[in-house]
Amino acid sequence: MEIPRNLLLQTSARWNSSLIGKIFTETKLDPNEVMRAIRGKWNLKQRLHILAAEGGRFILSFENEIDKEKIMKNESWQIMGYLLALKEFNPENKPNQVTFKTSLFWINFTGLQLEHQSQSVIKLIATAAGIVKEIDPPDTTPRDATGYRARVEVDLYKPMRQGTMTETLYMGPTWVDFVYTGIPYHSCKICHRFTHDTNNCDGAPPTVTELLMIIGISPAVEPIHFQARATP
Ligand SMILES: [Zn+2]
Repeated sequence: MEIPRNLLLQTSARWNSSLIGKIFTETKLDPNEVMRAIRGKWNLKQRLHILAAEGGRFILSFENEIDKEKIMKNESWQIMGYLLALKEFNPENKPNQVTFKTSLFWINFTGLQLEHQSQSVIKLIATAAGIVKEIDPPDTTPRDATGYRARVEVDLYKPMRQGTMTETLYMGPTWVDFVYTGIPYHSCKICHRFTHDTNNCDGAPPTVTELLMIIGISPAVEPIHFQARATP
């Protein structure tokens, strides 16, 4: 079939600078329900075009660039109780070759001391959760009671770090809790992974090393030296 190249270009251009999304689950979902749920969740100014692509992916094209920015800024998104992982997409990419290993989350903190209240200290603390992309607010002290928040790229295949032990000036090492925005309902509240639901957790107790990593203490252990003692 001869299709004029111009027509192909024009058609493909609609999908320039789109997003590609995938519901992070192994449960088989009806793509029509997913599309309906996405439209229902996002309150956009202009139209959203959604195409169900191979590999359980959805290509999302926004008529209004501001809508797209708003969606990206407020990532992560929960759709039908699952995490919708999002990435930038262009027509030259193959949908089923786009991998979803990480997702962006906003994190708030509880347990911060006065000596932690700066962008640079917050950035250090947030590093325990993943790759820090942004601190909000970037240049002043926070104006509301929720305080600083950090935009962090989190590994979807590892346990979500629940906080970290932090040095303080006057109180010794102190625990700071991470409060994630938009944790999907379908994730494990026992081992804090996205890969399964709480009731599907294999229940195996974590190893000591895993536990130390989850609670944020370096797993380095002092070596024990056995000294040969000469018997009299
Ligand atoms: Zn689990």
